[in-house]
Amino acid sequence: MRIDVISIFPSYFDGLTLSLLGKAQSTGILDLQIHDLRDWTHDRHRTVDDTPYGGGAGMVMKPEPWGLALDELAPAGSDSPPTIIFPSPAGEVFHQSTARELAQREHLVFGCGRYEGIDERVFEEAATRGEVRLISLGDYVLNGGEVAVMAMIEAIGRLIPGVVGNPESLVEESHEDGLLEYPSYTKPSVWREREVPPILLSGNHGAIAAWRREQQLERTRRRRPDLLRDED
Ligand code: SAM
Repeated sequence: MRIDVISIFPSYFDGLTLSLLGKAQSTGILDLQIHDLRDWTHDRHRTVDDTPYGGGAGMVMKPEPWGLALDELAPAGSDSPPTIIFPSPAGEVFHQSTARELAQREHLVFGCGRYEGIDERVFEEAATRGEVRLISLGDYVLNGGEVAVMAMIEAIGRLIPGVVGNPESLVEESHEDGLLEYPSYTKPSVWREREVPPILLSGNHGAIAAWRREQQLERTRRRRPDLLRDED
């Protein structure tokens, strides 16, 4: 998969060279390219923002650098148009199902907003180049799209075949079957007088699976009852 990210703070993404996503890049499974939006400016100050029409607090990202970035990364009339994602607190909420869907794509372009956001016409222009998605990480406001994009890339990237060594570990995770994950334990079996639930030491795989399922349901009921209601 190819992923392009446009940001005025490209060094935010240095962390994505580590761990599993770093390995996926060195083995060629993931081609991740980080771009500085200011490289598509042409004035001495490399300006990316201006005051809002109609007044109001804060600055708005200018359309011109975004247009040039799209011309290069998502050219009009391409045979394989990318999916262009703008993180936004006013977008659809990102779920595991969104990650699963986006992990099937060949090419994603992420555009990180800053200030009060991006001039609205950029989204219209982007829609002439590919499918546009405005995606929120949750109902709160971040200073910029970088942290949201890192979270999305990590959630999407780990679903690309070959990124996580044992694909079975992806199946048994929170949100994969609409429930939260069961509790996990490792050695020692007694730690600071706290014991691992005896069923996990029984060797009875059927009983362990039933216990884990019950734990998932109980946990989901207690912590995230909204997930069970969504199943109705
Ligand atoms: N004025 C915008 C609004 O009220 O919708 C918020 C702008 S926010 C300060 C700057 C940028 O941070 C946004 O353009 C977006 O890229 C990113 N951002 C903020 N909160 C986010 C969230 N919950 N999910 C995804 N991106 C977010």
